[in-house]
Amino acid sequence: MYRNTWMEVNLDAIAENVRSTKDICGKKYIAVLKADAYGCGDQQVANAVLEAGADMLAVSSLDEALMLRNEGYDGKILILGAVDAQDASILIQHHISTAAYSKEWVDAVTAQNCQDLQVHLAVDTGMNRIGFKDISSLQKAFDQLKKAGCRMEGIFTHFFCSDQLDHKITDQQYQKFAAAVKALQYPFEWIHCDNSDATIFFKDDISNACRVGISLYGISPYKKDLKKAISLHTCISMTKHVAKGETIGYGATYTADSDQIIATMPIGYADGFIRANQGRKVYVDGQMAEIVGRICMDQCMVRLDHDVAPGTEAEVFGDHIDLEEMANELKTISYEIICLISGRVTRKYIWHGCEYGEDNPRLSRSGLNQAE
Ligand SMILES: *Cc1c(COP(=O)(O)O)cnc(C)c1O
Repeated sequence: MYRNTWMEVNLDAIAENVRSTKDICGKKYIAVLKADAYGCGDQQVANAVLEAGADMLAVSSLDEALMLRNEGYDGKILILGAVDAQDASILIQHHISTAAYSKEWVDAVTAQNCQDLQVHLAVDTGMNRIGFKDISSLQKAFDQLKKAGCRMEGIFTHFFCSDQLDHKITDQQYQKFAAAVKALQYPFEWIHCDNSDATIFFKDDISNACRVGISLYGISPYKKDLKKAISLHTCISMTKHVAKGETIGYGATYTADSDQIIATMPIGYADGFIRANQGRKVYVDGQMAEIVGRICMDQCMVRLDHDVAPGTEAEVFGDHIDLEEMANELKTISYEIICLISGRVTRKYIWHGCEYGEDNPRLSRSGLNQAE
């Protein structure tokens, strides 16, 4: 990597978050690594969560599951989203578990050879995304899949309001899920409903596994002592003095109202640093520097109180700028900010207390990646 913009992922922090959340729920642990582990690198995060005791990995699609298989992971994988029924044979061949999520899907899967397909029944307890909404359709799907030789491995639902301090909706969803599980009277190996938030605050006596995503990275509205695992950095390319009245950037959206020091940084919207960040601040050498002018594709400008040398590091979020506060300011959620950090941004890893190489798939494809 020659460009000075990187995301740091601390795998030790992730491992510690696995251990502490696993201690809270005391159940089997499914680490949700969809979307390339929320943009952090599925292979690296998989190593960390497995070492810390995760029992299964979950992803969103067959592509994501096969990438983990190709990277050498041969343990349990569950696909939480919809997989085309016609791809059942690939699931079977690679021992990948999948969600059974609609009558049409069950009909299409059982119309072919689906012997030994590992399924987790998705129960829709009100989110209206995927799954069976009532017990009779769920029971039919169960019977049909079982008769066709599928392995009825699990049953799950997904909470849609678990970040709200009022847990009424989560309680109602849980009651529906518990009723569905009880109605089937089957010894499922995997019964799961708790996402990160519910894993931390919700006690239930029906599930035997939790399903943790965002809290792996230290983010939780309920538990503030998790370890923050991700930060985003860049470096100042140059600084300049601008005179009162000069404008900055495309569209001249910012005019200096005094003589000012303006610094340029190599991060822009093509890195996932979206234009809505204009007016927010980054941390540079003890100062909070406002992003002035429009954010360009590859660069942006900030106003400094005191001049700094080229190469000085700037933190976009991390120790000084909280990712969740950044998300609030952008009227979004931390999930979206980290997933949007693009493939152009090199990921640098810390593991076992050391720098553990960097990853940038696009650079490696051209043979440009420096040492692992
Ligand atoms: C994304 C997802 C999770 C993980 O949610 P977090 O809030 O990140 O813990 C769990 N289950 C399902 C079905 C999901 O889609």
